[in-house]
Amino acid sequence: MSNSVFNFSAGPAMLPKVVMEQAQSELLNWNNTGVSVMEFSHRDPAYVAMAKQAEHDLRDLLNVPDGYEVLFLQGGGRGQFSAVPQNIASKTSTVDYLDSGIWSGYAIREAQKYVGAVNVVAGNQETGQGKAIAPRDQWKLSDNAAYFHYCPNETVDGIALHDIPDVDAPIVADMSSNILAEPLDVSRFGVIYAGAQKNIGPSGFAIAIVKKDLLGNPQPELSSIMDYQLQAKDNSMYNTPNTFAWYLSGLVFKWLKEQGGLTAMGQTNHQKASTLYSYIDGSDFYRNQVNPDYRSIMNIPFQLADERLDERFLAEAKEAGLMGLKGHRFVGGMRASLYNAMPLEGVKVLIDFMDEFARKA
Ligand SMILES: *Cc1c(COP(=O)(O)O)cnc(C)c1O
Repeated sequence: MSNSVFNFSAGPAMLPKVVMEQAQSELLNWNNTGVSVMEFSHRDPAYVAMAKQAEHDLRDLLNVPDGYEVLFLQGGGRGQFSAVPQNIASKTSTVDYLDSGIWSGYAIREAQKYVGAVNVVAGNQETGQGKAIAPRDQWKLSDNAAYFHYCPNETVDGIALHDIPDVDAPIVADMSSNILAEPLDVSRFGVIYAGAQKNIGPSGFAIAIVKKDLLGNPQPELSSIMDYQLQAKDNSMYNTPNTFAWYLSGLVFKWLKEQGGLTAMGQTNHQKASTLYSYIDGSDFYRNQVNPDYRSIMNIPFQLADERLDERFLAEAKEAGLMGLKGHRFVGGMRASLYNAMPLEGVKVLIDFMDEFARKA
């Protein structure tokens, strides 16, 4: 069974098969130590070398400029919802948030606990061609925001902002579901963070890429394990890191480099997404409700013509080895997540299945 399954889950999501095979083969004997990497001290030079290599590979992949810390943290994506305001804003700060979907909403509500005011600059709107993010000239930015936060890829809504916004405040981006999906100009950002379980590795783990000049004035109640500056000083080992997740993420970074890095991944990801969108747009049985300019290349929600067929669609898809297609409980319908590990072949098998299902229905 396992060989023929394509996993479209939004997260925790599929990981590259060769990476999982390598992890399996060395699970009980990592690096010729006779023990698992999970049983190994994070202070041991062999582990530290592996951890440093993972950071090096991540910096390489994203071309992280000098002047940025790269941190390996815990608490997933949501852990950063409070870490960001507590690290780089004060209790009297105003911060700007773009509200482009469900994850932005969660980030906004968390930030409200830690700052003077969260100013929501704009939300989404209906256009003749589907749902879109309000255009930049309609945003109500504040004059003195400590930072501007947005989620470039809304995992649940399948809506994306493809251009980095032109704003004066330092930009903070929740890239949990699109980090490493295509090349990125890191120099435009103050903070980039991501929970690992979509495009990186195991859940509960998180990456933060932080511009050093934003640090130095955290809120006094900030938990030490979430303190960017403290974690940077201790090479993300102030507390015991998730050693296995760090190791597995490192294998994924190596795999990405072998694939040709983010330029190659971006090409494949755009091809995968446009193949599925073209099929959906050409069908009168399926539809996607996002304006083409704002469509995610990672998470593609779609609806069937008759929602009473949803259950059958999911059951038959599962039978055909296509799993994880159920849409988020807030929006219903279907969602295909096409992260880096999903091969183009998986998208083609999905389309064949959808076509067959539509013809029978
Ligand atoms: C999945 C996700 C999160 C939450 O990640 P957790 O690790 O569950 O906290 C946050 N933001 C976005 C955009 C996500 O896709």
